[in-house]
Amino acid sequence: MKYVDEFRDGELARNIAANIKREADSSIDYRLMEFCGGHTHAISRYGLTDLLPASVRLIHGPGCPVCVLPVGRVDQAINLVRDYGVILCTYADTMRVPASNNLSLMRAKAAGADVRMIYSTQDALKIARDNPQRQVVFLAIGFETTTPPTAVAVKQAAAEGLKNFSILCNHVLTPAAMHAILDVKNGVSLDGFVGPAHVSTVIGSKPYEPFANNYRKPVVIAGFEPLDVMQAILMLIRQINENRAVVENEFTRAVTREGNLKAQALVAEIFELRDTFEWRGLGSVPHSALKLRAEFADFDAETKFSVDYVAVPDHKACECATILRGEKRPQECKIFGTVCTPENPVGSCMVSSEGACAAHYSYGRFRETAHSHT
Ligand code: SF4
Repeated sequence: MKYVDEFRDGELARNIAANIKREADSSIDYRLMEFCGGHTHAISRYGLTDLLPASVRLIHGPGCPVCVLPVGRVDQAINLVRDYGVILCTYADTMRVPASNNLSLMRAKAAGADVRMIYSTQDALKIARDNPQRQVVFLAIGFETTTPPTAVAVKQAAAEGLKNFSILCNHVLTPAAMHAILDVKNGVSLDGFVGPAHVSTVIGSKPYEPFANNYRKPVVIAGFEPLDVMQAILMLIRQINENRAVVENEFTRAVTREGNLKAQALVAEIFELRDTFEWRGLGSVPHSALKLRAEFADFDAETKFSVDYVAVPDHKACECATILRGEKRPQECKIFGTVCTPENPVGSCMVSSEGACAAHYSYGRFRETAHSHT
């Protein structure tokens, strides 16, 4: 398959691995964060850490949309269904994120709540059109990749005068989270980032330049195929060896410096920055998420219904917060793979295939040697 097979070629992977082994200086500790859950999944699935020397450590970042959604945000959605009788629409993984009182949207649905799994924002609009007597709320989550389709839906609803459609907006921003990771006091020590693939097709490579210029952290944007990730690791090692810190783009087949200007303009038309937003693991991060602009307040579920956000602590045994900050590995959680499994997730990192715990569990990566951080 064009653009897939050539990026999964075993022979080429071994060549890149040989270059990494040759060029990685064994006296240097290379601590590289793959920000994005898509990379975490690829690294676990293809066993890429097995190809790396002991001095190169991959550390998971917080770039998994459902993982960073705090308990209080799911509670808010459940309250909307319970207190206002809305039809709540959302994407599949979001339905399994644990909420308070041993609930999730899935469990609320099993108990009779009208929660519907959708594949696109267009499905949510259709449900609203088909049920004019009911209020329909789309629980919108995700990074810059999923924000444009939400913006399209809001714009369409406004154009149609759809009065029974609104969104509970939880769209978050990648660069703000990267800043937060680097600013954590006594946080994880990093030497560079494997930059996101899909997010970067929208925002471009430019927003990562402050990490290179101000923090002296190299960033290499990489595609999601195994060879993309291996090549990005090699590019990061070269920068670190040469004491360089710049933004490089391995994913040139899809990412430009400026990104998708049309999508950016659409998002800016519909959304504006929130003053602050609470992330699971990172706490409250200023200017790290989006809300609807005042002119679209009719489509904002938080304005339309009184459902305040209330912060709720994670399950006592759950280490998702430290995992999302790159400070711990999934297998360091005491209930990993025993009480907490993909069938019965206790924390959000076990829900989605992009979550660090789920990726480790599904591909047996917990059997890896102690040096590996993935
Ligand atoms: S194993 Fe489960 S409870 Fe532990 S950190 Fe991962 S998701 Fe949270």
